[in-house]
Amino acid sequence: MSKPDPRDLLGIRDQLGDEEREIADTVRNFVHKEVVEHAGEWFEDARFPEHLIPKLGELGLLGMHLEGYGCAGTSAVAYGLACLELEAGDSGLRSFVSVQGSLAMFPIWRYGSEEQKERWLPAMARGDAIGCFGLTEPDRGSDPGDMRTTARRDGSDWVLNGSKMWITNGTLADIAVVWARTDEGVRGFLVPRDTPGFAAREIKHKLSLRMSATAELVLDDVRLPEDAVLPGVTGLRGPLSCLAEARYGILWGAIGAGRACFESALDYAGSREQFGKPIGGFQLTQQKLVEMALELNKGLLLALHLGRRKDAGTLPPELVSFGKLSNVRAAIDAARTARTILAANGISLEYPVIRHANNLESVLTYEGTEEIHTLVLGQLLTGQAAYR
Ligand SMILES: Cc1cc2nc3c(=O)[nH]c(=O)nc-3n(C[C@H](O)[C@H](O)[C@H](O)COP(=O)(O)OP(=O)(O)OC[C@H]3O[C@@H](n4cnc5c(N)ncnc54)[C@H](O)[C@@H]3O)c2cc1C
Repeated sequence: MSKPDPRDLLGIRDQLGDEEREIADTVRNFVHKEVVEHAGEWFEDARFPEHLIPKLGELGLLGMHLEGYGCAGTSAVAYGLACLELEAGDSGLRSFVSVQGSLAMFPIWRYGSEEQKERWLPAMARGDAIGCFGLTEPDRGSDPGDMRTTARRDGSDWVLNGSKMWITNGTLADIAVVWARTDEGVRGFLVPRDTPGFAAREIKHKLSLRMSATAELVLDDVRLPEDAVLPGVTGLRGPLSCLAEARYGILWGAIGAGRACFESALDYAGSREQFGKPIGGFQLTQQKLVEMALELNKGLLLALHLGRRKDAGTLPPELVSFGKLSNVRAAIDAARTARTILAANGISLEYPVIRHANNLESVLTYEGTEEIHTLVLGQLLTGQAAYR
């Protein structure tokens, strides 16, 4: 029997199908070749590497788990593995792909008219059109049901007013999926970027997810035709179903960021010497590495289990909360621990650790905060909703 691989202790790779392994390897190679070396610079410059968008499209990573309309139609596990490998590069890169596929393409694919699907999905799968998802508002984050953005009917048109905050890909997007309150309940609208009254303003001064383009969307008497509304859904379940899709990608992705920190710390512990020997030879360093390995490998096992259930159509949204809560926590703990192993070098962008640690602060908050996912599970266990 061969010894376990320190970089895949539980042998998860052997549990994957050929196509899943191939997709994971392809994305890992892409990230290694095109991202790793430059990620610190893009983070420092607060710049999204737009030149990679066509390549993400060519690799079939945009809307990859959707069927038809030029999308790859892979399994949920394959999508998760791609998220993991992308986030091992940078959470901003995985965020771009998550928002494009799960938050912008998914609602069009699930709730859009045939015309909307034909118009947008093939172009979005290629990366020729970029999407964003506007739910959060300056004053409404965890409680989107109380949103202030409105859409009212005016003849056969819709008129939208309000603003959306913290919108990933907002300044890059050709099309914004904007959720607004109507007389009938919450509806989703497709807002092309050049619509009069619509503006996307970059949010500056972020110290996390700096590589990701984040925006405020302003809607000032934005007039849209009748066919701009997503016909297939009314109510908060529309945006919440999209978030469940994207959170599923995060529960894999976070393990990728954690793995990058673990591997950086493991390499460093083997080469950095103090008191005449590598720091990996000290018991305290070993304990840190072992804690990281335990939690990250359990997280990967959890991701695979949830992915298999998603592919079988038996994954309830509460278990997506379980996965997001548990795996982001594992990743952020690993990033902070890795930072201590690299000590002073751990705060430098020459190494990936502080970048991942800072990015994971956003990942902990977006797509439902740690607290909200705790309360979702608390409600499942007790039958009582503590969040309202
Ligand atoms: C980098 C980044 C990118 C993002 N991208 C997008 C995007 O593309 N689209 C989009 O729509 N949004 C996006 N978001 C917004 C994100 O989803 C929200 O920040 C998140 O939902 C939390 O909302 P909030 O920041 O307004 O915090 P709040 O809701 O104001 O929460 C503040 C604190 O109160 C806690 N809290 C709130 N309610 C309760 C309760 N009932 N019980 C206990 N504690 C509670 C929260 O957990 C948190 O700790 C992004 C955010 C970031 C940081």
